[in-house]
Amino acid sequence: MPTSKLYDIAIIGAGCVGSAIAQRLSKYDIKTILIEKESDVSMGATKANSGIIHQGYFTTKGSLKEKLCLRGNELIDEIGPKIGVEYERIGAIFCATNKIEHETLEGEYIKSQNRGVEVELITELSRIHEIEPQLNDNVITILHFPRAGIIIPFELTIALAEHAMINGVELNLEFEVVFIKRDTENDVFEIHSDDGKKIKAKTIINAAGIYSDKIARMVGLEDFIIIPRRGEYILFDKDSLPLKKIIFPTPTPASKGIVISKTVHGNFFIGPNATEIESKEGINTTSIGLNEIIAGARKIIKNLPFKKNITNFAGIRASTHQHDFIVEESSIPQFINVAGIDSPGLSSSLAIAEMVEQILKKKCGYKFIKKGDYIPTRNKQILLSDLSEKELSEKIKENPQWGQIICRCEQVTEAEIVEACNGPIPVKNTDMIKRRLRPGMGRCQGGFCLPKVMKIISREKDMILERVTKTGGKSFIVFRRTKLLSSEVIDKGDLL
Ligand SMILES: Cc1cc2nc3c(=O)[nH]c(=O)nc-3n(C[C@H](O)[C@H](O)[C@H](O)COP(=O)(O)OP(=O)(O)OC[C@H]3O[C@@H](n4cnc5c(N)ncnc54)[C@H](O)[C@@H]3O)c2cc1C
Repeated sequence: MPTSKLYDIAIIGAGCVGSAIAQRLSKYDIKTILIEKESDVSMGATKANSGIIHQGYFTTKGSLKEKLCLRGNELIDEIGPKIGVEYERIGAIFCATNKIEHETLEGEYIKSQNRGVEVELITELSRIHEIEPQLNDNVITILHFPRAGIIIPFELTIALAEHAMINGVELNLEFEVVFIKRDTENDVFEIHSDDGKKIKAKTIINAAGIYSDKIARMVGLEDFIIIPRRGEYILFDKDSLPLKKIIFPTPTPASKGIVISKTVHGNFFIGPNATEIESKEGINTTSIGLNEIIAGARKIIKNLPFKKNITNFAGIRASTHQHDFIVEESSIPQFINVAGIDSPGLSSSLAIAEMVEQILKKKCGYKFIKKGDYIPTRNKQILLSDLSEKELSEKIKENPQWGQIICRCEQVTEAEIVEACNGPIPVKNTDMIKRRLRPGMGRCQGGFCLPKVMKIISREKDMILERVTKTGGKSFIVFRRTKLLSSEVIDKGDLL
């Protein structure tokens, strides 16, 4: 049997946190591998959340959430532009509709000022409505955090993982860790997959999100359990409500409440609620949940353009009884837990990576030496929306695929899809293209463009159309060609 390669560091879980750690470590001369059970990065909590870069508000004083959220909010300015990620600091407002809520906001205002956070408490009604004209007339106070912003979580994660790969980090997709063996004699972990593969590493970073408790138990750690908390959303079409700010109600101890916000691509959403659930896979939406969101949003804003609703979705927070992030070397040497990363984990991800680097230096004995050939930037893929008319006609002359619009809602061309198919992370299914270029995220939700995207993947990846999946595994979209349905040309067992 061939001996498996030995890595210095194996990161389990390629969400925003695992990918941020991989990107941070890729600067150094160490062998790092990022392991993910799904067919792409960003398939866990990072896929479905509010996409808000929070500004440390409503976190407990002295908590990791407070410290890492504030630092993460700063770090996005340092790292985002280098790796080609778009974000907008549109600012967030918390709204009070009565005296008790006003007092809560006043308390948070003082706390934020003491932390040195840029913040403004506004009670003048004309200013309130100037800052956000969509607010209901019953809003009497707003607490404004101008450095909060919006980002597309999977765009950040893909950029982080790709930048790590450009600098030598290996990405192993569709590797579900099911068993970890500790070889104490050689100070090595053996990480086993569900289909018999094995990876050896000196250090493990457990960034497995909702399953981080399961991974910790594989090495005998029982210090925490993950409590799944689902959040549901209603998403609206582009430009259906001209919002200026990210809008929150006054938070309660249980949650920040129903958010109303636009996205970087101009859609707008309401949500999430927060429901503890049993299943770690329960990403369905419910009528109770959706009604809760609608009622919450109606308290704060005037109009909800329901005719423009394009889809609903849900994500699951990986919460713990500790109510704070767990970022530490565990009682098992060289096994680092990065767990309980619920909100504001996206905002904190770059700071969590910075903290993990410190732990690796101080506790795990790593002496990081910078790579001589480190590439500090990642070029963002050029999109149709980036081009002037003149530039586009030049492109079409060179390559007629730039003239073929595949997705009408989001204006995506064949040339862009072909390039994404052949990016650093090998694209194998239609959702991977969707997360990179947005065909299927618009008004028609893929009704028109999906068959065309499938054909391009089939051609570029040299696989029959029936093998193209939605999200990997057995998520086949078409079963067989209609004309062959009654014949026995394709063996049924071949695809099932
Ligand atoms: C409804 C909701 C709203 C939120 N809103 C915000 C917000 O606006 N701003 C903010 O800052 N934060 C927000 N968050 C929190 C944020 O989404 C999370 O903190 C963040 O995405 C966590 O990232 P992660 O990498 O730790 O986890 P994940 O993204 O879940 O990644 C973990 C990865 O591990 C993989 N994995 C699991 N088990 C295994 C295994 N056995 N083998 C291999 N791989 C495995 C999973 O497939 C997954 O890809 C929100 C969360 C939710 C659910």
